[in-house]
Amino acid sequence: MFNLVIFGAPGSGKGTQSDKLISRYGLTHISTGEILRENIAKGTELGKIADKYISKGHLIPDDLVTEMLADEIDAHPGTKGFIFDGFPRTIPQAEALDRILEERGESVHSVIGLEVPDDQLIERLLARGKESGRSDDNLETINKRLQIYHSSTSPLKDFYLGNGRYESIEGTGEIDHIADRIVEAINRRDEAMKKK
Ligand code: AMP
Repeated sequence: MFNLVIFGAPGSGKGTQSDKLISRYGLTHISTGEILRENIAKGTELGKIADKYISKGHLIPDDLVTEMLADEIDAHPGTKGFIFDGFPRTIPQAEALDRILEERGESVHSVIGLEVPDDQLIERLLARGKESGRSDDNLETINKRLQIYHSSTSPLKDFYLGNGRYESIEGTGEIDHIADRIVEAINRRDEAMKKK
C-alpha cells in the first residue's frame, strides 16, 4: 500500500491537495475533520461529543479520534493506499498511526507538509467561512486553531524528520504548481527509499 500524510495548518490546502493526489494515485481519502462533521450532522454520540470541541477550535481527545481512524482504515480493505488528511495532529496520534499501520503490515510512505504563512491562512479561512458556514471558520476560533496547531501539531515535523519521512512544500501560489511540488517530493522520497 501507498500511504501518505498530508500535513499543515488549518487552511493550508490539505483538502484541495488531497483531491489532486487521490485522482493521481487512486488513494482512499481519510479526513478526520470530515468524518467528525458527518457525525455531527447525523447526531451520533461521537458527533455530540465532537461538536463541543470543534466549535471551540479545540482538538478531539486522542483516543476517540484514533479509534475512529482505525475503524475507517478497516472499512476499506483492498485499497491501494490512504491519504491521511488532518490526522495525526499530536505526537500520541502519530505514534498510534504507526502502530495501527504496523499491525496491518503497512507504514507511512511520506509526510507532506504544506507551509503557508499565518496571515494567508487567516485570510483563506475567513473566505472559506463565508462559503462553507463551518462553525469553526470565524476569527476567534481560527486564532485558537492556529495557536493549537503551533503548540501541539507542528512538533510532529520533528517527529517525522527524525525518521526521514517529512517533506516540506511551499503551500502558496497556484494550486497545480503546489500539486507538482508534492509529486516531486514523493518521487524524491521514493529515490531515497531505494538507496537504503
Ligand atoms: P479539519 O477539517 O481537519 O480542519 O478539522 C476540523 C476540526 O475537527 C479540528 O479543528 C478539530 O477540532 C477536529 N479534528 C479533526 N481531526 C482531528 C484530529 N486528528 N485530532 C483531534 N481533533 C481533530
